[in-house]
Amino acid sequence: MSHKTVLCVAALALLAMTSPRAGGWGCKGHQTVALIAEKHLTPEARQLVQKLLGDNPIDPKLKRWCGNATTDLMVDASTWPDDVRNERKNGPWHYIDIPRGKHKGDLAEYCGSEGCVTRAIEEQRAILKDKSADPLKRAEAIRYLIHFVGDMHQPLHAITNADNGGNCVPVKYLRHEPLANSLHPEREEYSPNLHQVWDTEIVERDMEISNPFRYADELDEKFHTEIAFWEAAGIHVDNWAWESHKLAETAVYDAFPEKITVEPDMKLKSCAEDSHMGKRMFDKHLAIGEAYQASAAKAVQIGLAEAGVRLAMILNDAAKSAN
Ligand SMILES: [Zn+2]
Repeated sequence: MSHKTVLCVAALALLAMTSPRAGGWGCKGHQTVALIAEKHLTPEARQLVQKLLGDNPIDPKLKRWCGNATTDLMVDASTWPDDVRNERKNGPWHYIDIPRGKHKGDLAEYCGSEGCVTRAIEEQRAILKDKSADPLKRAEAIRYLIHFVGDMHQPLHAITNADNGGNCVPVKYLRHEPLANSLHPEREEYSPNLHQVWDTEIVERDMEISNPFRYADELDEKFHTEIAFWEAAGIHVDNWAWESHKLAETAVYDAFPEKITVEPDMKLKSCAEDSHMGKRMFDKHLAIGEAYQASAAKAVQIGLAEAGVRLAMILNDAAKSAN
């Protein structure tokens, strides 16, 4: 290996270690959603959640991507589904691929045979409400709900443009140019890419030196008025997915000055498919600068706050019917 190749491989290995897997909000985003939800739980929901999570702890041998230093059970729960997604093979539960250009209708046709985020939320709600269900399953249902209600509010988890939810769209983020995966350049996978930036970078830059605890306090206060409206609107999981989808159109794709056309719907096994999607998008030289970051951060803040409040509504509702 040449010196340059070694450096390149080392850089990639580092990137793989430091960037979270493409799987929804990064650690801090999910933790913020859990913390906002905690502020809106009824006493009976708080009690149910603490009892089920406390009595059925997460396997201490499980490798925790976001660490296990927290004593807050909901914060700890918020990132667990990403840690088990490979062994449980339930990756599709984290998103719903609604093709770009769709505006309303039944979501069932976009929910594949392996499931999707809206169906997973309904299934886990039913398990949590069932008093006769195995308490371990009910604890897991809480962990899934905390995570999935968060994930569905990441706009790129409710849209696809034949680009695997933006995973096949290379972007320059601030001063970081997109680099191809040098071990498998034929896959046309780049980092940073649009999905990854929305999962993690936009949120964490907006948090600055804050932490999920402070950020949750800030957002809860900032959206005080809106929160009353979100609560009054009730639990409508499918509508939330459509809202997230709509937001992806405007805040993610249309926010670039370059036009990103609507692609015919298809699911790619690699970004090289669909006549070199990855390369075609790379050639657009999309760049996220301060202006995009600022408008995206607004959308992200609302999404995290909505997710927290709506998660609390789901848990409060479950605690009413079950104990
Ligand atoms: Zn996820």
